[in-house]
Amino acid sequence: MGIERVGSRIADIQSRMIALQTQQTGRNVQPPSTTSTSGAQGGTFANALEEAVAQTSTGNKSYSLNSKGIPTDLAAYGNGRIPASALEQVGSTRHKLWAPAAQSLNQMINDAKKDGVTIGITDSYRPYAEQVDLARRKGLYSQGGLAAKPGTSEHGWGMATDLDLNSKALSWMKQNGEKYGFEMNVPRESWHWAYKPKSL
Ligand SMILES: [Zn+2]
Repeated sequence: MGIERVGSRIADIQSRMIALQTQQTGRNVQPPSTTSTSGAQGGTFANALEEAVAQTSTGNKSYSLNSKGIPTDLAAYGNGRIPASALEQVGSTRHKLWAPAAQSLNQMINDAKKDGVTIGITDSYRPYAEQVDLARRKGLYSQGGLAAKPGTSEHGWGMATDLDLNSKALSWMKQNGEKYGFEMNVPRESWHWAYKPKSL
């Protein structure tokens, strides 16, 4: 970011803080949450900036998880039955993941690109019927195959992606994947990366 842009961003945040303070004084209402408006209330630039950064970064949020590490909101839908409203597209691909996982994956792909590393995607969210089809074609893990039992796959939660990685990209992922919440968690499947959200 150039210094002019930083300057104009600061001016923008300051003018928005003034607007917020004016609004609050004018209406004399309490803000709904003390944490989200502490910047405007406290009136310090540092708080406002911190808040602006927190709102744009991904991977810092934590979720209520069930005993299997699945967000309880998502678990309620059922594996392979996640509605489109809870999913988000990955970049400009046809692939979708649970929205927070998609956002983190997008960030990771962009950051890898800056390091000269290309991360491709071959699979993502998989509806139940697709997992049934995959199990039929590739066989179940329990029988020496390459597919999870329908209803149990991390792909069915929109929380795993299969990546197309050359050796450079694989070593980048081993070094950096965790920062974005992605873990290689199936033995012998260096393409399978599961998103592990933080627990509340
Ligand atoms: Zn996979």
